[in-house]
Amino acid sequence: MPQQTVLIIGGSRGIGAAAASLFYENGYQVGITYKSSKEQADILKKNHPGMEAFFCDVECESSVDAAVEQMTSTFGKIDVLINNAGIALIKLFTETTAAEWKRVFQTNVTGTYYACKAVLPQMIRRQSGRIINVSSMWGQTGASCEVAYSASKAAVIGLTKALAKEVGLSGITVNCVAPGVIDTDMNAELTEEDRMALCEETPLARIGSPHEVAGVMLFLAGEHASFLTGQVIAPNGGIVI
Ligand code: NDP
Repeated sequence: MPQQTVLIIGGSRGIGAAAASLFYENGYQVGITYKSSKEQADILKKNHPGMEAFFCDVECESSVDAAVEQMTSTFGKIDVLINNAGIALIKLFTETTAAEWKRVFQTNVTGTYYACKAVLPQMIRRQSGRIINVSSMWGQTGASCEVAYSASKAAVIGLTKALAKEVGLSGITVNCVAPGVIDTDMNAELTEEDRMALCEETPLARIGSPHEVAGVMLFLAGEHASFLTGQVIAPNGGIVI
């Protein structure tokens, strides 16, 4: 089989960076995107010869299109798309401004729409492809003080299920990972008390690592997931939704 390629949107840090390393170690040609973290992206590139990094702001359609074009001209095709870019917002609902609400949706939902739309024509042409979207446990359960984030991540699940039905006949699978609490910059502001409380609610009694989410992504991209589409896989330490 020719070498498979993966484009990881939001691959500069955290879960995306762990996925970049894991896919690379498993023989994929890897392209990552960065927005603010060029330095981290350059370090990843340096540590993984042949990996490429492209600028991409998922809030802007032309920026997503440009990254997809650069990835395609560099590696010839995109077999796997991972929509990992995301932002959180911890705030009372009544204090969430319309601008904050829109930005969370623009990044987490519309960014995913832009990237799927940009990559799908070539996947449809080849009658094959894998799309992996990143939702969250909060998109399944809802989180207090994270209404905008929870709603956006629930939308990603809806997008995944509907798109899976639409493109199944073209041989493309669309699935979603919905991680629990993972040790990344996104949770850097949690106090020790918050972390302990989250661990207590988790059957495995700990926070997850980015690598544990990356492993699920690798499975979803691989041959053993060929009959899986429209699904939400939840590396969350055992929380039953
Ligand atoms: P990080 O904050 O560590 O990383 C976020 C990534 O998203 C970075 O690569 C960042 O790029 C990128 N990004 C943010 N905004 C934009 C934008 N406008 N355009 C392009 N890229 C952008 O987060 P995590 O690794 O923790 O999260 C990754 C995904 O997993 C997110 O979708 C998040 O919602 C989800 N998730 C995380 C959980 C957790 O507990 N950590 C739990 C459940 C889901 P850059 O730094 O270059 O700007």
